[in-house]
Amino acid sequence: MPQRGQHKVIIIGTGPAGLTAAIYTARANLEPIIFEGAQPGGQLMITTDIENYPGFEKGIAGPELMDVMRKQAQRFGAQSFFKTVSNVDFTSKPYKVWTDDKTEYTADTVIIATGASARYLGLESEKEFMGFGVSACATCDGFFFRNQRVVVVGGGDTAMEEANYLTRHASEVLLIHRREGFRASRIMLERVQKNPKIKLALNTVIDEVVGTNEGGRKSVTGVNLKNVKTGEITLHPCEGVFIAIGHEPNTKFLKGILDMDGVGYLKTEKSSSKTNIEGVFACGDAQDAVYRQAITAAGTGCMAAIDVERYLEAMGE
Ligand code: NDP
Repeated sequence: MPQRGQHKVIIIGTGPAGLTAAIYTARANLEPIIFEGAQPGGQLMITTDIENYPGFEKGIAGPELMDVMRKQAQRFGAQSFFKTVSNVDFTSKPYKVWTDDKTEYTADTVIIATGASARYLGLESEKEFMGFGVSACATCDGFFFRNQRVVVVGGGDTAMEEANYLTRHASEVLLIHRREGFRASRIMLERVQKNPKIKLALNTVIDEVVGTNEGGRKSVTGVNLKNVKTGEITLHPCEGVFIAIGHEPNTKFLKGILDMDGVGYLKTEKSSSKTNIEGVFACGDAQDAVYRQAITAAGTGCMAAIDVERYLEAMGE
């Protein structure tokens, strides 16, 4: 009989997946503890209005939705800690989890709901001006570009949303996309196309972010744009550069421990949240490369909680 952990379930991550798992496991009297991670509330904390989360006829702000979800979980006894999990040991039971302050926690089951983070282009100049004109979050930083010129890179829904949002502040927005076809949903793309403040640069990539460091103060002055068909490079003057080219799952700390695909998305059994290690479950964007919606994350969080309940029942809990 394996030794019992201090906790029945540890939930790592507090986006819609982790918090839904917390609501369900707390209501099942499993007294979950949740680790909030580097971005408490997850990606919805940096989005504007969510118009497609069922139950909110007029939409709801991302941070507000996460705040309500957290309170709902806490109402049933879930305990949340503002710590990041940096290491785990799933080789023997109880499972061990270490937070960045080196505290060890043990549990009979673990739910991984660590989500995903914004991806960057990987240019040296992008790194150099990060936080000085380069950003991956329009809702966080858009305000700083009042009546200034900005560019947004990407052809998915995030890029459309960011471009539209930025027209509230910026004088003009150039949306840069590397091809002619868009991944974005039709409704989001149409909003961009109809917005008179947004211009499109297709078949185009950023070759370099250009800026100055006058008086020790870094700032962006433009981007060198490369037409991928002709190879031609032109300077586009702007003050802000918003990167919106998708996300990477936050699963690096699980490499070599849990099965994942080449990008890092955790592998789960079909129609289940089970990973390759029994008693360890995954939900939300950390295991979903396809849908990546708040509602699907919440749905898989619910699945993980039910899978935990059944697993503990089978263990004789
Ligand atoms: P996506 O993966 O959908 O789109 C990423 C975009 O970035 C693609 O157009 C891709 O180009 C481009 N891209 C990727 N890498 C590079 C690169 N190195 N250089 C230049 N361009 C690059 O990610 P999103 O974050 O936009 O969306 C993720 C999910 O979240 C989707 O399911 C989306 O529907 C959802 N979402 C929904 C929202 C809503 O409904 N309100 C809002 C935001 C997101 P290419 O197409 O050529 O690969």
